[in-house]
Amino acid sequence: QGPGAMKFQRQHMDSNSRPNPNSNYCDQMMKKRKMTVGACKPLNTFVHEPLKDVEDICIQRNIRCKNGQNNCHKSKSSMRVTDCRLTNGSRYPNCKYHTSPTKRQITVACVGNPYVPVHLDG
Ligand code: ATP
Repeated sequence: QGPGAMKFQRQHMDSNSRPNPNSNYCDQMMKKRKMTVGACKPLNTFVHEPLKDVEDICIQRNIRCKNGQNNCHKSKSSMRVTDCRLTNGSRYPNCKYHTSPTKRQITVACVGNPYVPVHLDG
């Protein structure tokens, strides 16, 4: 696996858990996955689906990414995700997050050979 794919999995994949809105899921996961090192990452999404299903999004047709590149792909089906958003008043190094589980289609940017997700575009 290339560094981009590994970073994507660290930041965005959590296949083996069901989201729980009442838990401190995001506080724990944002720390565990190293997104509270140096600064609190303001916004991050975790995907609760098998890695294979997320990698298969790269087979969908190309669409325009937010940065203008055309290597983005949108999932056919909606996926279980948890959005983590930094709370107002949270101050580094004490990063506190809102945890919002939801289901939606996700868009990923894919690169390389194998052609795999390296960025979550929405
Ligand atoms: P974030 O939640 O911060 O958006 P991310 O999933 O976008 O996280 P980044 O840390 O931004 O992860 O890394 C994205 C990587 O993907 C960068 O190395 C970037 O060069 C690469 N990349 C490839 N294609 C795209 C694209 N179309 N749009 C954005 N990034 C892309």
